[in-house]
Amino acid sequence: MDPGLDQAFRYLEALLLGREGRPGLSLAQLERLMGYPSKGEGPLSLTLPPRPELKGVNAVRFHYYPKDPQVQLIVEVEDREGERHIRHFRWDGRTWVTPEGLKGELRATAETPGVLELEGTYYLGFNREEAQVLSRAIRQGEAPGAKYLLCPQCGAHTYYAPGVRAEGVACPRCGNPTLLFKTLSLPERKDPLEELLEEQRALRRAIEALAAYLKRKLGP
Ligand SMILES: [Zn+2]
Repeated sequence: MDPGLDQAFRYLEALLLGREGRPGLSLAQLERLMGYPSKGEGPLSLTLPPRPELKGVNAVRFHYYPKDPQVQLIVEVEDREGERHIRHFRWDGRTWVTPEGLKGELRATAETPGVLELEGTYYLGFNREEAQVLSRAIRQGEAPGAKYLLCPQCGAHTYYAPGVRAEGVACPRCGNPTLLFKTLSLPERKDPLEELLEEQRALRRAIEALAAYLKRKLGP
């Protein structure tokens, strides 16, 4: 366990959820902190100023999405190794809660940090907006070169951001620790007619090989 990361999470838990009778950060206070709406419609990002509780990590960033009904606040903690730990929150009118299916507990955990799931594909080290953009590009065949981990057990794809250390990451769906490193290549779009001709040529070659074999076996 990384003590610097642990300390940062303890500080964030007290800040967001309150501690010992002190209330946590309200939505209105967060908005003031982020400069919403004076700095624009969002999403807005802010790096927390340095303080003793955060000295064991590289940075803590808040990303505020005022228009997103699901995830309004993403807390990103970058540890000393440069790995990003991401937690998701929604304001329920009283306090910060974790949207269903996402990770919100303010603890340093040994599990794969910061994995977002979009339509059955996983994104590691991307914020929600980045993951959505990448997901769209992948669907449209416009993301050649994107790096991902393929799980040979369940077939899950986990795309990871540049700078993310993907070694040792387990499959977010089935937990398989042995994943294959892959790079997305451009889908080859073949002309259906060309494909048919190629099939025909392959068939002809097979027949020729068979005829030659029979000739050798049976004599002319
Ligand atoms: Zn898997």
